[in-house]
Amino acid sequence: MAARLKLRRGDRLLIATHNSGKLSEFRHLLEPFGLQLVSAGELGLPEPEETGTTFAENARLKAHAAARASGLVALADDSGLCVDALGGQPGVYTANWAGSGANGGRDYMVGMRRVEDTLQAAGATSPAARRGSFNATLCLAHPDGRDELYVGRVEGTLVWPPRGDKGFGFDPVFMPDGFDITFGEMSAAEKHSWTPGQTGLSHRARAFARFVEQALGGGVEH
Ligand code: IMP
Repeated sequence: MAARLKLRRGDRLLIATHNSGKLSEFRHLLEPFGLQLVSAGELGLPEPEETGTTFAENARLKAHAAARASGLVALADDSGLCVDALGGQPGVYTANWAGSGANGGRDYMVGMRRVEDTLQAAGATSPAARRGSFNATLCLAHPDGRDELYVGRVEGTLVWPPRGDKGFGFDPVFMPDGFDITFGEMSAAEKHSWTPGQTGLSHRARAFARFVEQALGGGVEH
């Protein structure tokens, strides 16, 4: 069996994303580990097309493309919102449900409204009918072709209208179980609720906790 991918303090790690929201979350989560982080955007790497039909396929596609192009170990995330009453949609197509805003960026208000309109059309008005989850799959890929996957999920309820201006994407309409505020109303620290050795709250933090355990040896090396 091929050796597990491991990272140590001082190693370079490419964050294979062009999404500034995800990038700042990764920078925040990776801060205690003393890695030298560089992003796909900073290296001017092209954004690969997400042709997969699962979070795992798309995460692998992004991580391998970035690792091959840069010669660096790369970490990619594929994530999305799965709404029970919509048969798991938008799922891997979450980013596509958001329209294009100014400068070609995403307009998440369009995406949140589309989810809401689809829920209303399905008659999903009570909180019990508006269950969903955020899901994240991380892929750590080595330029030699090896990779590892780490999965995280958080369950909650879809609310309307959107609440809060923190976070990014669909955060303002997602209220995680056990809270009466949305991810959009939480600071990054609250949304992730992660410190070394903990499970975390957000889907990304929970996948990240597995990555830390398996690729970083579970803790902060000094
Ligand atoms: P992708 O992984 O690049 O395909 O994009 C996933 C999309 O899901 C993002 O563009 C956001 O719209 C949404 N998303 C993923 N994670 C989060 C999150 O933590 N908060 C809010 N929206 C998210």
